[in-house]
Amino acid sequence: MAAEVRPRLTVLSGPSGVGKSTVVAHMRKVHPEVWLSVSATTRKPRPGERHGVHYFFVGDDEFDKLIANGELLEWAEFAGNRYGTPRGAVLERLENGEPVLLEIDLQGARLVRQSMPEAQLVFLAPPSWDELVRRLTGRGTESAEVIERRLAAAKIELAAETEFDATLVNTSVEDVARELLALMDVV
Ligand code: ADP
Ligand code: 5GP
Repeated sequence: MAAEVRPRLTVLSGPSGVGKSTVVAHMRKVHPEVWLSVSATTRKPRPGERHGVHYFFVGDDEFDKLIANGELLEWAEFAGNRYGTPRGAVLERLENGEPVLLEIDLQGARLVRQSMPEAQLVFLAPPSWDELVRRLTGRGTESAEVIERRLAAAKIELAAETEFDATLVNTSVEDVARELLALMDVV
């Protein structure tokens, strides 16, 4: 009897500034059919970020409602803002047999592991700590205080790498995007 092939839910996590968005954007340029969940967040948009594309930007009250109505698969507070994965869209795609990618923080990855143990957890690591600091600072989108909060979170996230099923080191965006696609069985 052939083994059932389960549609795969893949979670990509890693410290802020490691290059998660860059890798995912590159991957989707090459394979636009790969579906990425769009999270809800209470964070303010960065220049160029669009509602419904990068995030659903919501207020605190609206986020409270999403939680109360059970509309989030998981959610977490990260560096002063809340972020959550809309449940419906993810489940719909998994039921259709489509691969699904979530780009979420360590707390979210742990919650997904609890509720969906078949999920594949992938950790994106920086080539070095100094390079992570350079990337986060060089992006130029956060104040010094927010960068400090994100680097404090990064120390905790880096220490949790062994909880993940696979680690990819983001030296080359193209290489990592290819490796991620292979892990998702897309190529
Ligand atoms: P994250 O989504 O993990 O917070 P970003 O994708 O915003 O990180 O990347 C942070 C910064 O690092 C950006 O300025 C981006 O251009 C840069 N970056 C991403 N990947 C690489 C890489 N492989 N080499 C050099 N710089 C990179
Ligand atoms: P940023 O503000 O840089 O876009 O994201 C900050 C952190 O929140 C990143 O680690 C990112 O992966 C994470 N994040 C984004 N969306 C979600 C989500 O829906 N749930 C959780 N738990 N984390 C998220």
